[in-house]
Amino acid sequence: MENFEQELLAYELDTLAVRSGQVRTHEGEHSEALFLTSSYVFGSAQEAADRFSGSLPGNVYSRYTNPTVRAFEERIAALEGAEAAVGTSSGMAAILSTCIGLLKSGDHIVCSRSVFGTTTVLFTKFMQKFGVTTTFVAPTDYTEWEAAFTPATKLVFVETPSNPLCDVIDIQRLAGITHKYNALLVVDNCFCTPALQRPLERGADLVVHSATKYIDGQGRCLGGVVAGPKVLVDEVLGFIRSAGPSLSPFNAWVFLKGLETLRLRMEAHSSNALALAQWLDRHPKVEKVFYAGLPTHIGHELAVKQQSAFGGVLSFRVKGEREAAWKVIDATRIMSLTANLGDTKTTIVHPATTTHGRLSPEQKAEAGITENLIRVSVGLESVKDLIADLERGLNLI
Ligand SMILES: *Cc1c(COP(=O)(O)O)cnc(C)c1O
Repeated sequence: MENFEQELLAYELDTLAVRSGQVRTHEGEHSEALFLTSSYVFGSAQEAADRFSGSLPGNVYSRYTNPTVRAFEERIAALEGAEAAVGTSSGMAAILSTCIGLLKSGDHIVCSRSVFGTTTVLFTKFMQKFGVTTTFVAPTDYTEWEAAFTPATKLVFVETPSNPLCDVIDIQRLAGITHKYNALLVVDNCFCTPALQRPLERGADLVVHSATKYIDGQGRCLGGVVAGPKVLVDEVLGFIRSAGPSLSPFNAWVFLKGLETLRLRMEAHSSNALALAQWLDRHPKVEKVFYAGLPTHIGHELAVKQQSAFGGVLSFRVKGEREAAWKVIDATRIMSLTANLGDTKTTIVHPATTTHGRLSPEQKAEAGITENLIRVSVGLESVKDLIADLERGLNLI
Protein backbone atom coordinates (compact mmCIF):
# COMPACT_ATOMS: atom_id res chain seq x y z
CA MET A 1 0.00 0.00 0.00
CA GLU A 2 2.80 2.37 0.91
CA ASN A 3 4.49 1.70 -2.44
CA PHE A 4 1.25 2.44 -4.21
CA GLU A 5 0.99 5.80 -2.38
CA GLN A 6 4.55 6.59 -3.49
CA GLU A 7 3.76 5.57 -7.04
CA LEU A 8 0.62 7.70 -7.07
CA LEU A 9 2.61 10.90 -6.63
CA ALA A 10 3.87 10.52 -10.19
CA TYR A 11 0.34 10.46 -11.57
CA GLU A 12 -1.62 13.27 -13.17
CA LEU A 13 -4.16 15.36 -11.24
CA ASP A 14 -7.15 13.52 -12.73
CA THR A 15 -5.81 10.19 -11.53
CA LEU A 16 -5.01 11.55 -8.09
CA ALA A 17 -8.53 12.99 -7.77
CA VAL A 18 -10.01 9.53 -8.23
CA ARG A 19 -7.37 7.19 -6.81
CA SER A 20 -5.35 8.84 -4.05
CA GLY A 21 -6.09 8.34 -0.37
CA GLN A 22 -8.23 5.26 -0.74
CA VAL A 23 -8.32 2.87 2.21
CA ARG A 24 -9.67 -0.53 1.22
CA THR A 25 -10.80 -2.84 4.00
CA HIS A 26 -10.75 -6.66 3.97
CA GLU A 27 -14.29 -6.52 2.51
CA GLY A 28 -12.79 -5.39 -0.78
CA GLU A 29 -15.26 -2.54 -1.35
CA HIS A 30 -14.65 -0.57 -4.54
CA SER A 31 -15.94 2.78 -3.29
CA GLU A 32 -14.34 4.49 -0.30
CA ALA A 33 -15.58 3.05 3.00
CA LEU A 34 -17.42 5.37 5.37
CA PHE A 35 -16.20 4.81 8.92
CA LEU A 36 -18.98 6.20 11.09
CA THR A 37 -17.39 5.50 14.42
CA SER A 38 -16.38 7.79 17.25
CA SER A 39 -13.92 5.38 18.84
CA TYR A 40 -11.88 2.24 18.14
CA VAL A 41 -11.34 -0.96 20.13
CA PHE A 42 -7.96 -2.37 21.06
CA GLY A 43 -6.93 -6.04 21.08
CA SER A 44 -5.32 -5.93 24.53
CA ALA A 45 -4.50 -3.61 27.40
CA GLN A 46 -0.93 -3.44 26.07
CA GLU A 47 -2.16 -2.38 22.61
CA ALA A 48 -4.43 0.27 24.17
CA ALA A 49 -1.48 1.65 26.16
CA ASP A 50 0.75 1.68 23.07
CA ARG A 51 -1.85 3.39 20.87
CA PHE A 52 -2.49 6.05 23.52
CA SER A 53 1.21 6.70 23.99
CA GLY A 54 1.65 6.90 20.23
CA SER A 55 4.34 4.20 20.14
CA LEU A 56 1.92 2.09 18.05
CA PRO A 57 0.31 3.92 15.14
CA GLY A 58 -3.45 3.56 14.76
CA ASN A 59 -6.79 5.11 15.59
CA VAL A 60 -7.82 6.01 19.11
CA TYR A 61 -10.75 8.40 18.79
CA SER A 62 -12.32 10.23 15.82
CA ARG A 63 -11.53 13.67 17.18
CA TYR A 64 -7.89 12.68 16.46
CA THR A 65 -8.08 10.43 13.42
CA ASN A 66 -10.65 8.64 11.31
CA PRO A 67 -9.87 6.52 8.23
CA THR A 68 -12.44 8.27 5.99
CA VAL A 69 -11.23 11.71 7.08
CA ARG A 70 -7.64 10.57 6.50
CA ALA A 71 -8.53 9.42 2.98
CA PHE A 72 -9.93 12.88 2.24
CA GLU A 73 -6.86 14.58 3.73
CA GLU A 74 -4.53 12.44 1.62
CA ARG A 75 -6.51 13.14 -1.55
CA ILE A 76 -6.48 16.90 -0.93
CA ALA A 77 -2.75 16.83 -0.15
CA ALA A 78 -2.14 14.96 -3.42
CA LEU A 79 -4.20 17.46 -5.42
CA GLU A 80 -2.63 20.56 -3.84
CA GLY A 81 0.86 19.05 -4.12
CA ALA A 82 1.16 19.30 -0.31
CA GLU A 83 3.08 17.08 2.06
CA ALA A 84 0.16 16.92 4.50
CA ALA A 85 -3.40 18.09 5.05
CA VAL A 86 -5.88 18.17 7.90
CA GLY A 87 -9.67 18.28 7.63
CA THR A 88 -11.83 20.62 9.73
CA SER A 89 -15.53 21.01 10.52
CA SER A 90 -15.91 24.06 8.24
CA GLY A 91 -13.90 26.52 6.18
CA MET A 92 -13.91 28.97 9.08
CA ALA A 93 -12.61 26.23 11.39
CA ALA A 94 -9.73 25.74 8.93
CA ILE A 95 -8.86 29.45 9.11
CA LEU A 96 -9.26 29.66 12.90
CA SER A 97 -7.20 26.49 13.46
CA THR A 98 -4.45 27.85 11.20
CA CYS A 99 -4.33 31.06 13.25
CA ILE A 100 -4.42 29.43 16.68
CA GLY A 101 -2.03 26.68 15.63
CA LEU A 102 0.60 29.03 14.22
CA LEU A 103 0.20 32.38 16.02
CA LYS A 104 0.58 33.69 19.53
CA SER A 105 -0.39 36.85 21.37
CA GLY A 106 1.53 39.84 20.00
CA ASP A 107 1.69 38.50 16.45
CA HIS A 108 0.37 40.44 13.47
CA ILE A 109 -1.56 39.40 10.34
CA VAL A 110 -1.60 41.22 7.00
CA CYS A 111 -4.79 40.40 5.13
CA SER A 112 -6.40 41.33 1.84
CA ARG A 113 -9.39 43.62 2.26
CA SER A 114 -11.33 41.44 -0.18
CA VAL A 115 -11.71 38.24 1.79
CA PHE A 116 -14.75 36.28 2.88
CA GLY A 117 -16.74 38.50 5.29
CA THR A 118 -16.58 36.08 8.22
CA THR A 119 -12.79 35.89 7.88
CA THR A 120 -12.68 39.65 8.47
CA VAL A 121 -14.91 39.24 11.54
CA LEU A 122 -12.74 36.40 12.88
CA PHE A 123 -9.55 38.46 12.53
CA THR A 124 -10.90 41.78 13.83
CA LYS A 125 -13.33 40.70 16.52
CA PHE A 126 -11.92 37.46 17.86
CA MET A 127 -8.21 37.11 17.08
CA GLN A 128 -7.82 40.63 18.43
CA LYS A 129 -9.20 39.51 21.80
CA PHE A 130 -6.18 37.22 22.08
CA GLY A 131 -3.66 39.89 21.15
CA VAL A 132 -3.32 39.12 17.44
CA THR A 133 -3.83 42.23 15.33
CA THR A 134 -4.60 42.52 11.63
CA THR A 135 -3.90 45.14 8.98
CA PHE A 136 -6.14 45.02 5.91
CA VAL A 137 -4.77 46.11 2.54
CA ALA A 138 -6.01 46.65 -1.01
CA PRO A 139 -5.61 43.22 -2.64
CA THR A 140 -3.68 44.25 -5.76
CA ASP A 141 -1.63 47.12 -4.31
CA TYR A 142 1.74 45.45 -3.59
CA THR A 143 3.21 48.64 -2.18
CA GLU A 144 0.43 48.72 0.40
CA TRP A 145 1.02 45.03 1.17
CA GLU A 146 4.69 45.64 1.80
CA ALA A 147 4.08 48.79 3.86
CA ALA A 148 1.79 46.86 6.20
CA PHE A 149 4.53 44.50 7.45
CA THR A 150 5.91 45.01 10.96
CA PRO A 151 8.51 42.97 12.86
CA ALA A 152 5.53 41.17 14.46
CA THR A 153 3.98 40.07 11.16
CA LYS A 154 3.79 36.27 11.11
CA LEU A 155 0.97 35.53 8.73
CA VAL A 156 -0.28 36.90 5.41
CA PHE A 157 -3.76 35.94 4.27
CA VAL A 158 -5.20 36.25 0.79
CA GLU A 159 -8.02 34.98 -1.41
CA THR A 160 -7.63 34.95 -5.18
CA PRO A 161 -9.70 35.57 -7.20
CA SER A 162 -11.42 37.84 -4.72
CA ASN A 163 -15.10 37.93 -3.90
CA PRO A 164 -17.16 39.51 -5.42
CA LEU A 165 -15.08 41.64 -7.83
CA CYS A 166 -12.75 38.88 -9.07
CA ASP A 167 -9.49 40.73 -8.39
CA VAL A 168 -6.58 38.44 -9.20
CA ILE A 169 -3.65 38.60 -6.78
CA ASP A 170 -0.16 37.49 -7.82
CA ILE A 171 0.62 34.62 -5.44
CA GLN A 172 4.28 34.37 -6.47
CA ARG A 173 4.85 38.08 -5.96
CA LEU A 174 3.09 38.10 -2.60
CA ALA A 175 5.05 35.01 -1.50
CA GLY A 176 8.25 36.90 -2.34
CA ILE A 177 7.26 39.86 -0.16
CA THR A 178 6.02 37.59 2.66
CA HIS A 179 9.21 35.56 2.81
CA LYS A 180 11.38 38.66 2.87
CA TYR A 181 9.80 39.35 6.26
CA ASN A 182 9.95 35.70 7.43
CA ALA A 183 6.18 35.39 7.53
CA LEU A 184 3.91 32.65 6.17
CA LEU A 185 1.62 33.10 3.18
CA VAL A 186 -1.79 31.44 3.54
CA VAL A 187 -4.00 31.29 0.44
CA ASP A 188 -7.73 30.60 0.69
CA ASN A 189 -8.10 28.55 -2.52
CA CYS A 190 -11.85 28.12 -2.21
CA PHE A 191 -12.79 29.89 -5.47
CA CYS A 192 -10.39 28.05 -7.79
CA THR A 193 -9.78 24.75 -5.97
CA PRO A 194 -6.66 22.72 -6.89
CA ALA A 195 -8.36 21.87 -10.18
CA LEU A 196 -7.66 25.41 -11.42
CA GLN A 197 -4.92 26.82 -9.17
CA ARG A 198 -2.20 25.31 -6.99
CA PRO A 199 -0.88 28.06 -4.68
CA LEU A 200 1.86 25.94 -3.05
CA GLU A 201 3.59 25.61 -6.44
CA ARG A 202 3.70 29.42 -6.57
CA GLY A 203 5.35 29.81 -3.19
CA ALA A 204 2.42 29.88 -0.74
CA ASP A 205 3.14 28.16 2.57
CA LEU A 206 -0.35 26.90 3.33
CA VAL A 207 -3.63 26.48 1.49
CA VAL A 208 -6.98 26.61 3.26
CA HIS A 209 -10.36 25.66 1.84
CA SER A 210 -13.99 25.83 2.60
CA ALA A 211 -14.82 22.34 1.26
CA THR A 212 -18.45 23.43 1.66
CA LYS A 213 -18.21 25.13 -1.73
CA TYR A 214 -16.79 23.53 -4.89
CA ILE A 215 -15.18 20.51 -3.22
CA ASP A 216 -18.60 19.24 -2.17
CA GLY A 217 -20.01 21.05 -5.18
CA GLN A 218 -23.62 20.23 -4.47
CA GLY A 219 -24.36 22.22 -1.31
CA ARG A 220 -24.74 19.32 1.13
CA CYS A 221 -22.01 19.41 3.77
CA LEU A 222 -19.89 21.86 5.76
CA GLY A 223 -16.19 21.22 5.98
CA GLY A 224 -12.72 22.63 5.47
CA VAL A 225 -9.10 21.65 5.08
CA VAL A 226 -5.59 23.05 5.64
CA ALA A 227 -2.76 21.75 3.40
CA GLY A 228 0.99 22.37 3.36
CA PRO A 229 4.30 21.15 4.81
CA LYS A 230 3.96 18.56 7.58
CA VAL A 231 5.68 20.75 10.20
CA LEU A 232 3.04 23.47 9.78
CA VAL A 233 0.06 21.14 9.35
CA ASP A 234 1.10 19.28 12.53
CA GLU A 235 0.82 22.53 14.53
CA VAL A 236 -2.70 23.08 13.16
CA LEU A 237 -3.56 19.43 13.79
CA GLY A 238 -2.46 19.78 17.40
CA PHE A 239 -5.03 22.50 17.97
CA ILE A 240 -7.80 20.59 16.15
CA ARG A 241 -7.21 17.48 18.26
CA SER A 242 -7.32 19.50 21.46
CA ALA A 243 -10.16 21.88 20.62
CA GLY A 244 -12.33 19.61 18.49
CA PRO A 245 -13.27 21.37 15.21
CA SER A 246 -12.70 17.99 13.53
CA LEU A 247 -14.20 16.98 10.20
CA SER A 248 -17.14 14.57 10.33
CA PRO A 249 -16.38 11.26 8.54
CA PHE A 250 -19.70 11.47 6.72
CA ASN A 251 -18.82 14.90 5.33
CA ALA A 252 -15.31 13.70 4.44
CA TRP A 253 -16.87 10.86 2.47
CA VAL A 254 -19.12 13.28 0.54
CA PHE A 255 -16.05 15.44 -0.21
CA LEU A 256 -14.05 12.42 -1.40
CA LYS A 257 -16.74 11.73 -3.98
CA GLY A 258 -16.89 15.44 -4.85
CA LEU A 259 -13.15 15.52 -5.56
CA GLU A 260 -13.53 12.77 -8.17
CA THR A 261 -15.55 15.08 -10.44
CA LEU A 262 -13.95 18.36 -9.34
CA ARG A 263 -11.99 19.16 -12.50
CA LEU A 264 -14.89 18.36 -14.81
CA ARG A 265 -17.22 20.49 -12.72
CA MET A 266 -14.75 23.40 -12.45
CA GLU A 267 -14.30 23.43 -16.21
CA ALA A 268 -18.06 23.39 -16.76
CA HIS A 269 -18.60 26.15 -14.14
CA SER A 270 -15.87 28.17 -15.83
CA SER A 271 -17.17 27.79 -19.38
CA ASN A 272 -20.74 28.63 -18.29
CA ALA A 273 -19.48 31.67 -16.36
CA LEU A 274 -17.42 32.87 -19.34
CA ALA A 275 -20.39 32.57 -21.69
CA LEU A 276 -22.62 34.45 -19.25
CA ALA A 277 -19.96 37.14 -18.66
CA GLN A 278 -19.53 37.68 -22.41
CA TRP A 279 -23.28 38.00 -22.87
CA LEU A 280 -23.62 40.43 -19.93
CA ASP A 281 -20.68 42.46 -21.24
CA ARG A 282 -22.62 43.17 -24.45
CA HIS A 283 -25.93 43.93 -22.75
CA PRO A 284 -27.02 47.60 -22.94
CA LYS A 285 -28.46 47.57 -19.38
CA VAL A 286 -25.19 46.33 -17.88
CA GLU A 287 -22.66 48.94 -16.75
CA LYS A 288 -19.67 46.69 -16.00
CA VAL A 289 -18.86 42.99 -15.68
CA PHE A 290 -16.24 41.66 -13.25
CA TYR A 291 -14.84 38.34 -14.47
CA ALA A 292 -11.17 37.60 -15.08
CA GLY A 293 -12.05 35.58 -18.18
CA LEU A 294 -12.88 38.81 -20.02
CA PRO A 295 -9.76 40.24 -21.74
CA THR A 296 -10.86 43.71 -20.54
CA HIS A 297 -10.67 42.66 -16.85
CA ILE A 298 -7.65 44.11 -15.06
CA GLY A 299 -6.58 40.69 -13.76
CA HIS A 300 -7.00 38.81 -17.03
CA GLU A 301 -3.34 38.33 -17.95
CA LEU A 302 -2.36 37.25 -14.47
CA ALA A 303 -5.30 34.84 -14.29
CA VAL A 304 -4.16 33.26 -17.57
CA LYS A 305 -0.73 32.70 -16.00
CA GLN A 306 -1.86 31.62 -12.55
CA GLN A 307 -5.07 29.66 -13.19
CA SER A 308 -6.04 26.99 -15.72
CA ALA A 309 -9.56 28.49 -16.07
CA PHE A 310 -11.38 31.50 -14.65
CA GLY A 311 -13.80 29.89 -12.20
CA GLY A 312 -17.54 30.06 -11.71
CA VAL A 313 -18.12 33.34 -9.87
CA LEU A 314 -18.75 36.66 -11.60
CA SER A 315 -20.39 39.93 -10.69
CA PHE A 316 -21.82 42.81 -12.65
CA ARG A 317 -23.19 46.32 -12.18
CA VAL A 318 -26.50 47.12 -13.80
CA LYS A 319 -27.37 50.60 -15.03
CA GLY A 320 -29.26 52.18 -12.14
CA GLU A 321 -29.30 51.89 -8.36
CA ARG A 322 -30.35 49.31 -5.79
CA GLU A 323 -33.86 49.15 -7.20
CA ALA A 324 -32.58 48.07 -10.63
CA ALA A 325 -30.35 45.37 -9.14
CA TRP A 326 -33.18 44.03 -6.98
CA LYS A 327 -35.47 43.96 -10.04
CA VAL A 328 -33.03 41.70 -11.88
CA ILE A 329 -32.63 39.43 -8.84
CA ASP A 330 -36.35 39.20 -8.15
CA ALA A 331 -37.16 38.41 -11.79
CA THR A 332 -35.05 35.24 -11.86
CA ARG A 333 -36.87 31.91 -11.72
CA ILE A 334 -34.05 29.39 -12.06
CA MET A 335 -31.30 31.01 -9.99
CA SER A 336 -31.46 30.53 -6.21
CA LEU A 337 -31.43 33.72 -4.18
CA THR A 338 -28.84 32.68 -1.59
CA ALA A 339 -25.40 33.79 -0.49
CA ASN A 340 -23.89 30.32 -0.95
CA LEU A 341 -21.65 29.60 -3.91
CA GLY A 342 -19.82 26.74 -5.58
CA ASP A 343 -22.92 24.68 -6.22
CA THR A 344 -24.22 22.93 -9.34
CA LYS A 345 -27.22 25.25 -8.85
CA THR A 346 -26.66 28.87 -9.90
CA THR A 347 -26.99 31.34 -7.03
CA ILE A 348 -27.55 35.10 -7.18
CA VAL A 349 -27.12 37.69 -4.45
CA HIS A 350 -27.02 41.47 -3.83
CA PRO A 351 -23.71 41.89 -1.93
CA ALA A 352 -24.37 45.44 -0.64
CA THR A 353 -27.37 44.32 1.44
CA THR A 354 -26.35 40.74 2.28
CA THR A 355 -22.79 39.37 2.26
CA HIS A 356 -21.24 42.83 2.59
CA GLY A 357 -24.19 44.48 4.38
CA ARG A 358 -22.33 45.11 7.61
CA LEU A 359 -19.65 47.25 5.94
CA SER A 360 -19.94 51.01 6.49
CA PRO A 361 -20.75 53.14 3.41
CA GLU A 362 -17.06 54.16 3.26
CA GLN A 363 -15.87 50.55 3.44
CA LYS A 364 -18.34 49.58 0.73
CA ALA A 365 -17.14 52.38 -1.52
CA GLU A 366 -13.53 51.38 -0.92
CA ALA A 367 -14.29 47.73 -1.72
CA GLY A 368 -16.34 48.60 -4.82
CA ILE A 369 -19.52 47.10 -3.36
CA THR A 370 -21.99 49.45 -5.04
CA GLU A 371 -25.78 49.29 -4.76
CA ASN A 372 -26.10 48.23 -8.41
CA LEU A 373 -23.76 45.23 -8.03
CA ILE A 374 -25.02 41.63 -8.40
CA ARG A 375 -22.96 38.49 -7.80
CA VAL A 376 -23.68 35.23 -9.57
CA SER A 377 -22.12 31.86 -8.77
CA VAL A 378 -22.69 30.18 -12.10
CA GLY A 379 -23.89 26.59 -11.83
CA LEU A 380 -24.19 23.76 -14.29
CA GLU A 381 -27.63 24.50 -15.76
CA SER A 382 -27.84 25.30 -19.48
CA VAL A 383 -26.25 28.69 -20.04
CA LYS A 384 -29.02 29.50 -22.53
CA ASP A 385 -31.59 29.22 -19.74
CA LEU A 386 -29.41 31.23 -17.34
CA ILE A 387 -29.13 34.03 -19.88
CA ALA A 388 -32.92 34.08 -20.30
CA ASP A 389 -33.27 34.15 -16.49
CA LEU A 390 -31.20 37.36 -16.25
CA GLU A 391 -32.58 38.90 -19.43
CA ARG A 392 -36.11 38.91 -17.99
CA GLY A 393 -35.09 41.31 -15.22
CA LEU A 394 -32.67 43.37 -17.32
CA ASN A 395 -35.55 44.11 -19.72
CA LEU A 396 -37.50 45.61 -16.80
CA ILE A 397 -34.85 48.24 -16.02
C1 LIG B 1 -17.52 30.06 2.49
C2 LIG B 1 -16.15 30.53 2.56
C3 LIG B 1 -15.39 30.39 3.73
C4 LIG B 1 -15.97 29.81 5.00
O1 LIG B 1 -16.30 28.47 4.84
P1 LIG B 1 -17.42 27.73 5.71
O2 LIG B 1 -17.31 26.31 5.23
O3 LIG B 1 -18.73 28.37 5.40
O4 LIG B 1 -17.04 27.89 7.13
C5 LIG B 1 -14.08 30.81 3.72
N1 LIG B 1 -13.53 31.36 2.61
C6 LIG B 1 -14.24 31.52 1.47
C7 LIG B 1 -13.57 32.13 0.28
C8 LIG B 1 -15.56 31.12 1.40
O5 LIG B 1 -16.25 31.30 0.28
